[in-house]
Amino acid sequence: MRCYCGAKDHKLLFCASSYQIVQCLACDQVRTITPSKIERKQIYNKEDISVYIEKEVMFRLLFKRIVDFIKQYKKDGTFVDIGAGVGLLVDEARRAGFDASGIEPSLSAVRAARKFFHIQLLHTKFTEKSMKKPVDIVVLNHVLEHLPNPHAVIRTIANVLEKDGLLVIGVPNFGSIMSLLKKSRWQSLVLDQHRWHFTQKNT
Ligand SMILES: [Zn+2]
Repeated sequence: MRCYCGAKDHKLLFCASSYQIVQCLACDQVRTITPSKIERKQIYNKEDISVYIEKEVMFRLLFKRIVDFIKQYKKDGTFVDIGAGVGLLVDEARRAGFDASGIEPSLSAVRAARKFFHIQLLHTKFTEKSMKKPVDIVVLNHVLEHLPNPHAVIRTIANVLEKDGLLVIGVPNFGSIMSLLKKSRWQSLVLDQHRWHFTQKNT
């Protein structure tokens, strides 16, 4: 797999089981090279969902912090969470007064949102047509690192945002102290799911 900048050349940073973590020589972006025999997991499965149900209180606190951060820039308006999971961020945004909705490609997650949290999400992949335009706030929370082409998704979001709209992106920090200390044992590597490993410098 090439880097999203188009370059192929890279240096090996380290290996973790049969995966390689490499850095692009052209743009410094770090990425996972997955062995061809392993199938990459794209969307939520039942195990991922059960974590949100068991730790609902903790996740709500985390998501409320994101909503509080957004409140510093926008007090109200339309709010779309792309890759909404089981919908807890959407629910926290609604509680804070936003006109919030969520898009989620995993049917299991959409069903869990309805069953456990009474939150209705749109079951679809994100495209320009999948939302009512224009939107005041778009959130991509722990989504970008999964996508084959993150730049294309950001370009599409630019087309659906209001002129003064806000895009909020949350990703694991590959440049964090925990990542540097733990290397291949860092829990946010999640190599069967994460293609890209961002730092503050190359995000
Ligand atoms: Zn690159």
